Amino acid sequence: MIHRRLSLVLAMLVVAALPSCAQSGIAKTITEAEVHSLESALADDSMEGRLTGTPGGARAARYIAAQMKLLDLAPLGDSGYFQRVPVTATDSSIDLRASFSDAAPGRHETAVNVVGMLQGSDPKLAGEIILVDAHYDHLGVGKPVNGDSIYNGADDDASGTVAVLAVAHALAGTHPKRSILFALTTGEEEGLLGTNWMIAHFPVPIDSVVANLETEMIGRPDSLAGGAGKAWLTGYDRSTMGAMLAREHIPIVADPRPAQHFFERSDNIAYAQRGIPAHTLSTFNLHADYHQPSDDISRIDFAHMTAVINAAVHAVALLANGTVPVWNPGGRPTATPPGS
Ligand SMILES: [Zn+2]
Repeated sequence: MIHRRLSLVLAMLVVAALPSCAQSGIAKTITEAEVHSLESALADDSMEGRLTGTPGGARAARYIAAQMKLLDLAPLGDSGYFQRVPVTATDSSIDLRASFSDAAPGRHETAVNVVGMLQGSDPKLAGEIILVDAHYDHLGVGKPVNGDSIYNGADDDASGTVAVLAVAHALAGTHPKRSILFALTTGEEEGLLGTNWMIAHFPVPIDSVVANLETEMIGRPDSLAGGAGKAWLTGYDRSTMGAMLAREHIPIVADPRPAQHFFERSDNIAYAQRGIPAHTLSTFNLHADYHQPSDDISRIDFAHMTAVINAAVHAVALLANGTVPVWNPGGRPTATPPGS
């Protein structure tokens, strides 16, 4: 998740504004052991904090692509599951280049998004896409705190990345009616770089995306959402998505801290500003390890995280097989979100 001030600046910059629910099959229940296995790989010190455009970031991307291959998702990058993203790195920032031939100053690096699709089974609905995404990047190696210099981002957002892979695993054999695009993006912490590139180079016609559910920071329970196993949805009242999930008794409530503007602080906002009902599922409780080296796997509550992932599986199955959400009156964000 990006810092609030940066996100508000970004929201203003994006004025460009690029322009009964039967399931087809029974989803697999995800186990705590599976969640632990994925999370311990992504939050391991060997991933060096998964900074955009670095060897650690590339290692995380290869791990994600290998998981997608195991599930036999269709590779929708420009290089297998990888969608290459041109960036420049300087001592102070990482920025998107306009193209691979853009000679912007700084060290030129290639970052990647990782993208795979589960093809829909219904001839009438398979052309409609549900986008399920999270950012896999974090802050890399930096200023040591209490002797630890690796910013592992176990919660932010290895946890959301695990959710996307686990949802793909749970639904892979269920023949959902709509197609589900699974995307793990880079450069969110630097200002949605990977998502902005992906929107400009979308692997399928972007107008076929009918809903977006992002997962961000689900590794610890939030008492304001009801505690362990409960999650909240950003921008809950903006579209009919929240009410759809509530009708199915999925344990997902409204974001209890609207003043934090979480709806505007992650990749979903870029899709919402394009008109796609797009929300983020989270359980971030404002813990003090946010963007610190102490955001470590030792502080993940795996029973909670597994329960939230199974709620996300149910939610995505509903989106893929039931009705699609629409904006409520006044809910679609303008290019500059309120409060910025
Ligand atoms: Zn973050």
